[in-house]
Amino acid sequence: MTDHPLHYQSIEFLANGLADGSLTAVALAEAVIGRTVAVEPVLRAFISRNDEELLAEAVESDRRRRAGKPRSRWDGIPIGIKDLISVRGQPLTNGSRMMENYISPYDATVIARMRTAGMIPWGRLNLDEFAMGSSTEYSAFQKTANPWNLARVPGGSSGGPAAAVAAGQVPAALGTDTGGSIRQPAAFCGITGLKPTHGRVSRYGVTAFASSLDQVGPIARSVEDVAILCSIIAGHDGHDSTSSRRPVPDLLAATQRCRSWTIGIPAEFFADGLNQEVGDAVRTAITFFEKKGCSIQPISLPNAPLGTAVYFLTATAEAFSNLARFDGIRYGHRSKNAEDAVDIYGRSRAEGFGDEVKRRIILGAFVLSSGFQDAYYSRAQRVRTLICRDYAAAFAEVDLILTPTSPTTAFPFGARNDDPLAMYLSDAYTVSINLAGLPAISIPCGLDSQCLPIGLQLIGKPYGEEELLAAANFFQKQHNFHLLRPCSVEEAS
Ligand code: GLN
Repeated sequence: MTDHPLHYQSIEFLANGLADGSLTAVALAEAVIGRTVAVEPVLRAFISRNDEELLAEAVESDRRRRAGKPRSRWDGIPIGIKDLISVRGQPLTNGSRMMENYISPYDATVIARMRTAGMIPWGRLNLDEFAMGSSTEYSAFQKTANPWNLARVPGGSSGGPAAAVAAGQVPAALGTDTGGSIRQPAAFCGITGLKPTHGRVSRYGVTAFASSLDQVGPIARSVEDVAILCSIIAGHDGHDSTSSRRPVPDLLAATQRCRSWTIGIPAEFFADGLNQEVGDAVRTAITFFEKKGCSIQPISLPNAPLGTAVYFLTATAEAFSNLARFDGIRYGHRSKNAEDAVDIYGRSRAEGFGDEVKRRIILGAFVLSSGFQDAYYSRAQRVRTLICRDYAAAFAEVDLILTPTSPTTAFPFGARNDDPLAMYLSDAYTVSINLAGLPAISIPCGLDSQCLPIGLQLIGKPYGEEELLAAANFFQKQHNFHLLRPCSVEEAS
């Protein structure tokens, strides 16, 4: 690993350098800015950057350390932020024209916690508008390229964070995951992404898409790095009544544990629609766990295939309600052509939102409308309960569940734009986990014949992040797929 340039190093390695004086926070800030200047013209992962603030905070960090008072081991490490999470004084576009000119008046709780540890939030990373999408092509501002193949999407909606981490622009980033938006882009970009248990991390200061599904989580190169970041951002928050009061364990320590897990393999996730090379790589990983003494158990999650339908009925209903505040009066773009108050709402929303967001608002209004609510929204909630029960029954027998993260590797730009259903199906293996509120991680498990990364997903019991990270790290430490560097961006930079 030592042959990696500075910008590709792990959080742990950087922290050691900062501790022993071989690295300064300013040198690190200059390295990530330099790297970003070099690759951004081809990658376009950042919507905006606060380089001067990063450098100024790095100076402060070095000063604290020289005085013997670093805020934590991680003091001075820059972390990229999806442009859906409030950072005081920074823009919060949500990837939308609607919020193009908005500046956050306060820090989200996850940002405040990072600052308490001395980490420096840096940059506003690209996403699908309001986190609705699977390719980052629905951003109102730019398309972010996949560092492994610049003609392909980085996944979504956290495509900016995933591409920036994979290309060495930031050591790690924060994303959000409502139906797969951390795990699927992590899989497409050959990195590691954790969606914590719903309630593990505060959502205060994070733009709400579908509140019963949304969760903030870390995106980084290794399991150890996501563990470090998750330990920092997790925990109860008085500003978010859905955040759990459970104590947060030392997740980095948990990554070092090892035992013979019983791992469930759900038949429904290996059926039609799974790309063969993805399936082969994931099956090889299953064989690996088996050889290492884990017990592999076939299981069934019979209602999981209904996950995509239930997810879109639930997420659009919640989005319809959450996005009502973007009306040109309370928040967001105000039309200059409006004649009266009602006209302001209509025109501002028509001008401010993109097609996908409109599609979801309309669908959400429809599934909640009188006459259709029972047939769609209420029925979806009943099936959601069945999905939760499937997982609970499976977890009575197994410690973890292993599946592919996504049915395919990264697809070319434009490939699914004319077919929303095909786009929605990229999340077929991730959405049911959000519906059940479970923690899950995506780690790289190989490359396909086109040199595109393949991701495998491990799913844990509620608040089972420790087991999840331990098993993921056990696999990662013996394969080192996470140390591969994306060829395309290296050639282009
Ligand atoms: N891709 C899914 C969607 O389009 C999930 C998005 C997300 O997790 N934010 O809704």
